[in-house]
Amino acid sequence: MSEIIKTSMSTCKERIATACVCCNNTALKKSPALLMPFISHRALGLAPVKIDETWGLKTIPTGMAYALCHSTFCPSCGFLFLDVRFSERELSSLYEGYREKDYTELREHYEPGYKKRNETLTGGVTYIDQVEKFLSPFLTSPIKTLDWGGDTGKNTPFKNNSSLLHIYEINNKQPIEGAKLVDKKEISKTTYDLVVCSHVLEHVSYPSDLLLEIKEAMQSNTILYIEVPFEEIMQNANDDMELQLKKRHWHEHINFYSEESLRRLVANCGFDVIALNKLNAWGGANTSYIFQIACKLAK
Ligand SMILES: [Zn+2]
Repeated sequence: MSEIIKTSMSTCKERIATACVCCNNTALKKSPALLMPFISHRALGLAPVKIDETWGLKTIPTGMAYALCHSTFCPSCGFLFLDVRFSERELSSLYEGYREKDYTELREHYEPGYKKRNETLTGGVTYIDQVEKFLSPFLTSPIKTLDWGGDTGKNTPFKNNSSLLHIYEINNKQPIEGAKLVDKKEISKTTYDLVVCSHVLEHVSYPSDLLLEIKEAMQSNTILYIEVPFEEIMQNANDDMELQLKKRHWHEHINFYSEESLRRLVANCGFDVIALNKLNAWGGANTSYIFQIACKLAK
């Protein structure tokens, strides 16, 4: 059992990460940053406050107070991340009813103009054909697909070419026609050709835990497709860490992956990478480049 698996199950789960969640390196570099108010409010219940004279604090000047955190960089694998690791409950507070009424209203309060932008974000991605092209060499139609965190299935590759389309999702939205919401019991009874994990790993506190869960749904021939943003700051990153450590704010994406960090993460979880690509994908997400990875269970 690799180190990351052992530690992700035990000592590594601290409120403030002391090890890289991709490669488990503990020699990390940090710089101060802010947790954006929408995130601190919705996940932690910490709204910004104005400290004035009525607080009676003799040693602290008056002014706005926000939730502080750190930008944390792993020099070993190039991973950049928020040091605060949210609990399951905090992630649920943040993502339940994702982009629905309460979420949108609170976000509009802190980030005026969000509501309008949300309308384009929920429009669906426009590069599914390129995802299908990337995966085609490894699959034979018709395909049995499980989309892990796949929302309604509207962005699932091969959605019109699957003999079976299962969605594992906590938000309980009505899936698209032909797709079915399933629980872990049903997953364990089904054999899949393709498991999709798209735009999930940038949001979770312990990506290795999620990948180990997904692994349970796979057989030796199953392809796992992972998609995460290749954030602009990571595209321009270099070895001196200067740019990475200048990141001063954190929002929903708490994990910024480098290619090396992704490779180390999936290898540590027991997968072999069979293809990796950086795709320029101006889709519904507010990033222009994505990483695409196809994996199989390690032999
Ligand atoms: Zn690392």
